[in-house]
Amino acid sequence: DLATTHDAERAYELDRAHVFHSWSAQAEISPMVITRAEGSHVWDGAGSRYLDFTSQLVFTNLGHQHPRIVAAIQEQAGHLATVAPAVANGTRSEAARLISSHTPGDLGHVFFTNGGADANEHAVRMARLHTGRHKVLTTYRSYHGGTHLAVNMTGDPRRWASDHASTGTVHFFGPFLYRSAFHATTEAEECQRALEHLEQVVALEGASTVAAIVLEAIPGTAGIMIPPPGYLAGVREICDRHGIVLIADEVMSGFGRSGRWFAVEHGGVTPDLLTFAKGVNSGYVPLGGVAISDAIHETFAHRSYPGGLTYSGHPLACAAAVATIRTMEDEDVVGRAARLGEDVIGPGLRELAEKHERIGEIRGTGVFWAVELVSDRETREPLAPYGGSSPEMTAIVKGCQERGMLPFVNFNRIHVVPPLTTSEDEVREGLAILDEALSATA
Ligand code: PLP
Repeated sequence: DLATTHDAERAYELDRAHVFHSWSAQAEISPMVITRAEGSHVWDGAGSRYLDFTSQLVFTNLGHQHPRIVAAIQEQAGHLATVAPAVANGTRSEAARLISSHTPGDLGHVFFTNGGADANEHAVRMARLHTGRHKVLTTYRSYHGGTHLAVNMTGDPRRWASDHASTGTVHFFGPFLYRSAFHATTEAEECQRALEHLEQVVALEGASTVAAIVLEAIPGTAGIMIPPPGYLAGVREICDRHGIVLIADEVMSGFGRSGRWFAVEHGGVTPDLLTFAKGVNSGYVPLGGVAISDAIHETFAHRSYPGGLTYSGHPLACAAAVATIRTMEDEDVVGRAARLGEDVIGPGLRELAEKHERIGEIRGTGVFWAVELVSDRETREPLAPYGGSSPEMTAIVKGCQERGMLPFVNFNRIHVVPPLTTSEDEVREGLAILDEALSATA
């Protein structure tokens, strides 16, 4: 009976008794119970309402309980809830057509997965088979998923516990002017030096051993570092010159989050493979995938692709994707996201940065922003160490929550990543709460 599952106390007790949580010491967590959600708000077990500035894990791009997505899932469930991946199904076909109509260049074929990690696993498998090479170059300060290869590709501390050289992953530095690995002082310098560094890594690893370079088009959880103009084009050029497959991980940045359908559009670049998940259907039913170029598709025209998933292209997930993408088209959600960034979030955060000494830098685009908090603006000492937290960060997060806003936090950063459909007033309200929380804990 669903009614009993809505009892918040029982939900919490049973969770603590039986649910094993991700990335957590099980005895040290006390998960928030969410009993209801609508648009950009969620309600906890005590009935308190919160503005969700996290989009959960940056996936509810159209907010909670969007009527068109909910209706599409219900209708699909009533009509044909599931089929195997080997058959053709109208809802899956339409989802693939809609996705292909928005991916850049010739990325016109879609392999569906259950989420982002397996999308990256399969993209790398395709690249390896396509090139006959093994190694994969990825950046420090990245996240590519929690499965074996994907977590090894990841360039953040979540990798360390499962790091195995046998996966053939090699890390390099992407551009990040605020904490430049190259002692650069301008975006142009950072761009040039980051490309020279990548060129050297390719040479020293042996270009003939490198199957793919995998990049988040805009690194997400790692800090929303917008690549400087020319960087993505430079990486594309290195890949072309050495016959390396360029894989853009758009799991977090894709489907409007950056103010464009895909973040690679900001750099005017078409990757050979593009992975997606999250925003493709606002995360209502698990779905991810790999968008595939003609050349890589051709590799598997008369050679069987050695990979698959029971739920590849699940009709319920695809129905949610069709409704999500059609809504995004009908309501110009992507344009709206761009304007929300330009008119409200950007200016609002710049005001906060002028006021609060602890804001070292703000950066972002669309509805994809990071606030970099420091204990000293001169030295740029982070307010929490890399890979850790601090009493100061904990107090700011608590200050936001007590005032009714859920902030996305990673180490010394707060990310402003609400649903793309959040109203201007709601965004201003959330930023005002962040302002108060920073003042209260100064
Ligand atoms: N890639 C990026 C850029 C992500 O942000 C994430 C998840 O946050 C993933 C991959 C992994 O996706 P999933 O958790 O659906 O496997």
